[in-house]
Amino acid sequence: MDPVQALKQYFGYDSFRTGQREAVEAILSGRDVLAVMPTGAGKSVCYQLPALLLPGVTLVISPLISLMQDQVKALKAAGIAAGYINSSLTEAQIARVYANALAGRYKLLYVAPERLESSGFLAFAAAAEIPLVTVDEAHCISQWGQDFRPSYLRIVDLIDSLPRRPVVGAFTATATGEVKTDIACVLKLRDPLSVATGFDRENLFFDVRTVKQKDAFVLDYVKQRPDESGIVYCATRKSVDAVHEMLVNAGVEAARYHAGMEQAERKAEQDDFIYDRKPVVVATNAFGMGVDKSNVRYVLHYNMPQSMENYYQEAGRAGRDGAPASCVLLFSVQDIMIDRYLLEHKDFTDVPEEEIEALRERDLKRLRVMEQYCRTTGCLRNYILAYFGEKREAPCEACGSCRREFTETDMTQEAKQVVNCVYETRGRYGLNIVLGTLLGAKRARLEELGTVRYKTYGALRGLSEDTLRSLVSQMLLDGYLTKSDEQYPVLRLGDIAPLKDPDTRVLVRSSAEREDAGGARKPRARAADPLTKAGYRLFEVLRAERRAAAGEEGVPPYVVFSDKTLIDMSVRAPRDEAAFLAVSGVGEAKRRKYGARFLAAIGAFFAENPGAVTSIDVGEDPAAPAKKPKTPKGPFRLAPGDADRFRFDGAYTVSELRDELNRISSAENVKKLYAADLLRLLEAWGYIEENRRGGGAFQIPTEKGIAKGIGTEQVLSRTGVAYSVPTCSAEVQREILAHYGGESGE
Ligand code: ADP
Ligand code: ZN
Repeated sequence: MDPVQALKQYFGYDSFRTGQREAVEAILSGRDVLAVMPTGAGKSVCYQLPALLLPGVTLVISPLISLMQDQVKALKAAGIAAGYINSSLTEAQIARVYANALAGRYKLLYVAPERLESSGFLAFAAAAEIPLVTVDEAHCISQWGQDFRPSYLRIVDLIDSLPRRPVVGAFTATATGEVKTDIACVLKLRDPLSVATGFDRENLFFDVRTVKQKDAFVLDYVKQRPDESGIVYCATRKSVDAVHEMLVNAGVEAARYHAGMEQAERKAEQDDFIYDRKPVVVATNAFGMGVDKSNVRYVLHYNMPQSMENYYQEAGRAGRDGAPASCVLLFSVQDIMIDRYLLEHKDFTDVPEEEIEALRERDLKRLRVMEQYCRTTGCLRNYILAYFGEKREAPCEACGSCRREFTETDMTQEAKQVVNCVYETRGRYGLNIVLGTLLGAKRARLEELGTVRYKTYGALRGLSEDTLRSLVSQMLLDGYLTKSDEQYPVLRLGDIAPLKDPDTRVLVRSSAEREDAGGARKPRARAADPLTKAGYRLFEVLRAERRAAAGEEGVPPYVVFSDKTLIDMSVRAPRDEAAFLAVSGVGEAKRRKYGARFLAAIGAFFAENPGAVTSIDVGEDPAAPAKKPKTPKGPFRLAPGDADRFRFDGAYTVSELRDELNRISSAENVKKLYAADLLRLLEAWGYIEENRRGGGAFQIPTEKGIAKGIGTEQVLSRTGVAYSVPTCSAEVQREILAHYGGESGE
């Protein structure tokens, strides 16, 4: 059977995803494979499909018991015979599995690495026909990786001991150069085909939110998505307990998971989540390894993870079925202070003296990468991809940053007042006293402490308290202030030397949603993009059917069908077996098993809703890969003739230019132009660049830009502070006009 045919028959998919075909063909031709594919990219198919087509039984070395059990269940549901061996089985059960495998009853056998040495296993391996050995989570073999497992080193001995060397396939989601080299060397791969699919996960929406009330945000987020599955990751067990309790008290059926719980309880909670009995799980990062649930629609991070690798792996547990899903990181300056503190006090007792510095350096770098991610105004997706070595030019238009407009305000002068005030307190008071003093609040407590007689009392009277809070947060981050870690923390001066440099700027960022960002926040409709209201009701009907089928079989609902499959089923609304088989994710086995009952459910739905239209995407192929959320309007451009109305009037600041361009544009159905768009354009052309002096980021002209006549101009902020912004000469204005399609009349 050819691979594409097998892909449809067993897995129900019409086409391979990126990388899958190369991997499958290499293995079938006898070549080793080293595949780096992010979570959700579809690694399993790469070795399960060859396993079906090769004679004998394929060994899959997999580190986690729950993962094995899940995979075997899913394979069985697809009509593929498979078994597993791990410590959860009795000796008698294990013997039976070996016997079955030897009798040719399995196409795949999952084995925990610890088993590889046992005499029973070695006897089995010597007698069996093993064409392919697959190493899942292959990075566990590298001592450089974060999850090194010594038992993985035994895999090589096993391969060497087999009568005929099998093809070896190594699969992992995370691999730096070092780890990749390690995997190839330690496993002694022979001229392996390197498969890398790229790290982008198009169906994921990334966002970072700076929120003060994280609990309220989480509660609101979860409540808006009562039918969707989600994970809330917290940094510590304590905060898992707290957030979990908060949700439960508010009436949300939330599961809880961390390593401090009894194993049985942990397992029960995990199952409640996996079997869709509880929609949300609040967990530490101990949760997720080995959880294959494909219909997770969102992953919230209550705290910032310690590295991008961790973040991408955890966030990547959303949307494995390829349907749209969201990954939102809740950011607070407080978290960063805590992370830095923990790092400074990290225990390195068992580490050789000469390595400590390097390790500290590495950890600090990881933290900085995350911090930058949380604070960038650029495209979040591109930031992640750049970190993993993929350069992108165009912003994705489908992340939080791309849908938000940032403004930066220079608050250097105000910052100096804060410094003066903290100086006057001699580091004795906390944030509220300092704020109240600077704002000139009339409070008895300030009288009592005498801060009303400070020179800085009322010095920042014109500011709002929120703005001032943001400024202090920024100053804490920049290191100009520090906060003690006592029960009642006080503010003290940090390293303020850089503030004496006249070039230093303290920039405070604020953001506004773009007008057209509405689609990003609309809950529920998102997961079922192409569906109409009726389509969504059908989707609900099918979900209920799935839950019923899963309950009868004792498997998790996503093993029956993924969300994506149910969405496609709602779009196509098949009325006969042939049409049912055409649904993405429906193979032969599943058609036989579930066709009748799902078709009956669909029939009943249409009997009740005659003529219902379930999909808005009539003209398009509903099986096409998930599209980026639709924006009703096209990008900003000018209509012919618009440019004639443009007033060349000396050097425009970017904001003035934006206003002028928006004024003259008569193009229909296009988005408004934002200052950020222009800044991006100038940056892409190499006319301006980010200047990171003084901790903040603002844009200055490059040499090329200066040659083009880019200048800077001092403008006044709302609070009366001067700061500089790029300006565009007439020449640049003309280039920009041309870029947006304005035919200049000249
Ligand atoms: P990984 O192991 O890389 O995290 P999986 O193998 O679990 O990813 O696959 C992720 C999801 O993608 C699963 O729900 C799987 O059924 C689905 N999938 C895999 N290959 C395809 C394909 N060619 N077309 C559509 N869906 C696919
Ligand atoms: Zn983006």
